[in-house]
Amino acid sequence: MSIQSNLEKIQQTLPPQVRLIAVSKTKPVELILELYNSGQREFGENKVQEILDKQAVLPKDIQWHLIGHLQTNKVKFIAPFVTLIHAVDSLKLLAEINKEAQKNNRIIDCLLQFHIAEEDTKFGLSKNEAFDLLKCSEYAQMKNIRIVGVMGMATFTEDTLQIQREFKNLHALFSEIKTSFFDQKEFFKEISMGMSGDYLIAIKEGSTMVRVGSALFGSR
Ligand SMILES: *Cc1c(COP(=O)(O)O)cnc(C)c1O
Repeated sequence: MSIQSNLEKIQQTLPPQVRLIAVSKTKPVELILELYNSGQREFGENKVQEILDKQAVLPKDIQWHLIGHLQTNKVKFIAPFVTLIHAVDSLKLLAEINKEAQKNNRIIDCLLQFHIAEEDTKFGLSKNEAFDLLKCSEYAQMKNIRIVGVMGMATFTEDTLQIQREFKNLHALFSEIKTSFFDQKEFFKEISMGMSGDYLIAIKEGSTMVRVGSALFGSR
């Protein structure tokens, strides 16, 4: 199967309000260009070096999403061009993004990453940590970042009920944060959840952005 037909098949399953982020990590630029030529514009990478290497040689109208864990000392490299940073999990990281965005004279969109998996291995904030962050005065003064929603990864399991429960939790967190901090703020609308194995469940639970890699490009 060609990756174009994978793309078409996946697109047919997406409701209009759900954006597809093509996760191209470890995949060569030639394959990214194939999808680009089929109309795909949003790509996701989880490593800073890799996103830099690819961004340098690929068409400039690609929108690059950093979906993986981000270290503060690497923010400066992606600040000039990144479209959305999915995995913000500390005030310190947010402050660094704000600083580098200011240097680049832009506002960088971010998602708060939540720990929703019942398993213990993934990054992310708890609800209390997120509320503390959103209430603090340092955050209130940041003018060059914009939090546009939430992101989470479900447990890697065959148990679809568990995955569904975890996505429901993320949606509930989104709604609570929306009401408490972003009421009337139209830009706070994104729920980034769903990967190759679970994006159909994620869409049922209200995802607005699915991050799909292997179902598009083949296994890594
Ligand atoms: C790799 C990755 C994905 C895509 O995973 P697939 O199972 O290949 O679709 C999605 N989100 C994050 C954060 C990733 O690192």
